[in-house]
Amino acid sequence: MYDIQKVRGDFPILGRVLYDKYPLVYLDNAATTQKPRCVVDAMTDEYYNVNANVHRGIHFLSQQATDLHEASRETVRRFVNAGSSSEIVFTRGTTESINLVATCFSDAFMKEGDEVIVSHMEHHSNIVSWQIVAQRKGIRLRVIPISDDGVLDIEAYKGLFNERTKIVSCSHVSNVLGTINNVKEIVRIAHEHGVPALIDGAQSTPHFGIDVQDMDCDFFAFSGHKIYGPTGIGVLYGKEEWLEKMPPYMGGGDMIKTVSFDRTTFNDLPYKFEAGTPDYIASTGLAKALEYVSDIGLDNICEYEKWLTEYAVSEMMNIDEMVIYGPKENRDAVISFQVGNIHHLDMGTLLDRLGIAVRTGHHCAEPLMRRMGIEGTCRASLALYNTKEDVDSLVNGIRRVCKMF
Ligand code: PMP
Repeated sequence: MYDIQKVRGDFPILGRVLYDKYPLVYLDNAATTQKPRCVVDAMTDEYYNVNANVHRGIHFLSQQATDLHEASRETVRRFVNAGSSSEIVFTRGTTESINLVATCFSDAFMKEGDEVIVSHMEHHSNIVSWQIVAQRKGIRLRVIPISDDGVLDIEAYKGLFNERTKIVSCSHVSNVLGTINNVKEIVRIAHEHGVPALIDGAQSTPHFGIDVQDMDCDFFAFSGHKIYGPTGIGVLYGKEEWLEKMPPYMGGGDMIKTVSFDRTTFNDLPYKFEAGTPDYIASTGLAKALEYVSDIGLDNICEYEKWLTEYAVSEMMNIDEMVIYGPKENRDAVISFQVGNIHHLDMGTLLDRLGIAVRTGHHCAEPLMRRMGIEGTCRASLALYNTKEDVDSLVNGIRRVCKMF
């Protein structure tokens, strides 16, 4: 599908040897991905050769930095197929994008007694952001239940709507179970009830193509660092009709048109939501990362990762007492597992001593853990540069840990 060794060569960190002995097997991609050289080079080049604050600068470098920053916005627009770049707001990441919507949408459209629908498999960022505004405004969270294998109960979802429902906020892909939610259907049902839907795309954007117009979501959030881009930058896509009606999130430079002590007017979209100096270096890095995955091809990445995930799941299931959480089908490259009664922290720590990086714990989804009746899991998450050999190392590693217990 693509030349995996060539791709691996683009990521210098993958050549590291840990504990003077073990080649790095990086399987913590749902937490953050590694960065290809082109992303770091583009950012370094901008710091060395272009750096100047963006917008309103009359000098050469400022205009060049502005052009780069706005070209990056256009790259993001194209990547998610938004209708207009004024619908692309740069944020610090998924968390900030969701907090922005929770705060500004509830300020504009919600009052005491109103309700927001989230699901039982949400990351804390899509629960706590709403809880904070819920406490402030007397809003209630309603929760879409899930089945034992981690699939949303769509019939129960339909039953949650009433005249107080004002918005739905749901993940595209679970960062614990790998469940790929039918977001088109979730959005369609929300619209049937006359309310908008926010989709948390933190775990979907790195793995398959996104088309916000086809999805018809009203808001879509994702993070740069999970898609081979830099930390500290993310995106909020919002339909113009909603963004126009929402008040600004933060006050400061860039988000205003005119300021006086009597009256301030706000800037046009998307700048109304971008107070202060934006991370214009990171936006360049993010655009490079999106170009990088687009060049490989999201369809190729999706097909390759699907094959690798299936291989991993089938090899892992040959291990005695192996439990893999989440659905059997329609799952993404996230594999949460538990072997017998070996504590996930012990498993993760011992795998690390073999150079294998996995994540352990509740994965910022404590309500989901409680629903599954567990305290945590060990999670291996794959990316476009992982290989069959990485999976074999994981499986052999797990077998070695099992022998120790
Ligand atoms: N939602 C999901 C589904 C996630 O997996 C994550 C990151 N683990 C987030 C939101 C938060 O992303 P960030 O920390 O980049 O803001």
